[in-house]
Amino acid sequence: ADARIGLIGLGTMGAALASNIAEKGFDIAVFNRTTQVTRDFAAEAGDLGPRITPAETLEDLVAAIARPRAIILMVPAGDPVDQQIAALTPLLDDDDLIIDCGNANFHDTDRRVAEGFGPFMGVGVSGGEEGARHGPSIMAGGTPELWARVEDVMLAIAAKHEGDPCAALMGPGGAGHFVKMVHNGIEYADMQMIAEVYGILRDGHGLDADEIGDVFDAWNRGPLQSYLIEISGKVAHARDVATRKPLLSQIVDAAGQKGTGRWTAIESQHRLAPVPAIEAAVVARNLSARLEERARGQEVFGPAPQRFDTLDRETLERGLIAGKVLCYAQGFAMLSAATRDFGWDLPMARIAQIWREGCIIRSTMLDAMASALDGEPGVNLMFTDHFAAILRDTHDALRQVVAQAALHGHPTPALSSGLAYFDAMRTARGTADMIQAQRDFFGLHGFVHVNGKADQHGPWAKAAAT
Ligand code: NDP
Repeated sequence: ADARIGLIGLGTMGAALASNIAEKGFDIAVFNRTTQVTRDFAAEAGDLGPRITPAETLEDLVAAIARPRAIILMVPAGDPVDQQIAALTPLLDDDDLIIDCGNANFHDTDRRVAEGFGPFMGVGVSGGEEGARHGPSIMAGGTPELWARVEDVMLAIAAKHEGDPCAALMGPGGAGHFVKMVHNGIEYADMQMIAEVYGILRDGHGLDADEIGDVFDAWNRGPLQSYLIEISGKVAHARDVATRKPLLSQIVDAAGQKGTGRWTAIESQHRLAPVPAIEAAVVARNLSARLEERARGQEVFGPAPQRFDTLDRETLERGLIAGKVLCYAQGFAMLSAATRDFGWDLPMARIAQIWREGCIIRSTMLDAMASALDGEPGVNLMFTDHFAAILRDTHDALRQVVAQAALHGHPTPALSSGLAYFDAMRTARGTADMIQAQRDFFGLHGFVHVNGKADQHGPWAKAAAT
């Protein structure tokens, strides 16, 4: 019984995480529902073998771990996590710690903590299989005492940004999974904006896949430098194995999803924290799946995207820069709203720092975001000196992109909603006076008068009273 930690679920993420843990010098005991997977994992462990104890039963797993135990769950979110907890709990001591490292809904994590079956942490792990194997970004939720018990392992396995581990405690209960959820929401919006620009390059400018790859490669050497722009260049250059045609041309354009973007959009509504670019990205994925209807629409109305040359490459790049800033601004503002609503103290600047490596949204822009949020954690990023200057410089380009795209039939839901957010956020006198008057007219809901008096009514109220 001397393994430092245990892990259940040797799927894509679990196997990679277990290897990472062993590689960093920690002895680990592993268990998988299907025993053959455990055997194969141990058999293929190579140099890491001596650090790995394969267990074929949960009892053996528990027996192999040093007390007080810490056991990572890396199984699909939802019922499998509850099932594993139920199976494990009777075998554990009171102070043994269960750590859910899957993509749990943070409400489930809060519930599991509240159920009080024993010490429990919900930890968001980003970066896909590659991240899990060689260094993920780790967003932990739990008490400082629980975090202290596993911090050495987490910091050791995390991605490093110039030596700084991309792992931190976000706050209690579901805070870690909440931050991971918003991370995924930002990821949805960032990917969607890139896909919209890709559409303009392909169908508007008529570039072939390699030329598009060259554009992304060039952008990846500028302010847009990021993992997502980098891989967009790589996939554009890739060829289909079967046909040798450009890979992108051989992929059905219906986007999959596992739900974390949808959770972000829904939760943002509950928090009254607008994240329109993320919502637009979720909607775009849902709409993309409607292949038959889209084909019918094209038949009924004619194809939408037209060729055009009224938008140069630099304007497109600058528009995407503005869009990206606005999408991150929305995500961070949602984190601020959660800090307020849940009484958390989310470490905003630290979040930007731990996203700089080991996660899908890593980008050079996060450096400046970390600095901007350092002094003023609750501020909307768009108002910080650095990003206000970028937006002043680039919002006209975003306007051009959205306008030209609209004029030529290219749907740009995320970029458009980013722009609408920007304009709404700099309109001191908006149009909700009309909404309030309408609400008062049909429901006597009352409005605040500009003179400061609340519960005021229009002239129709008298008529209603008589
Ligand atoms: P996989 O499908 O590759 O692996 C799932 C693992 O869970 C398998 O070991 C499987 O065992 C086990 N499992 C499934 N159902 C149960 C159950 N009811 N009881 C016990 N064990 C079960 O999933 P991933 O590794 O991709 O994902 C694991 C978690 O990590 C998910 O929450 C996912 O959202 C999250 N995640 C995934 C990322 C990714 O890029 N893939 C990135 C970040 C997070 P068996 O071999 O018996 O089927």
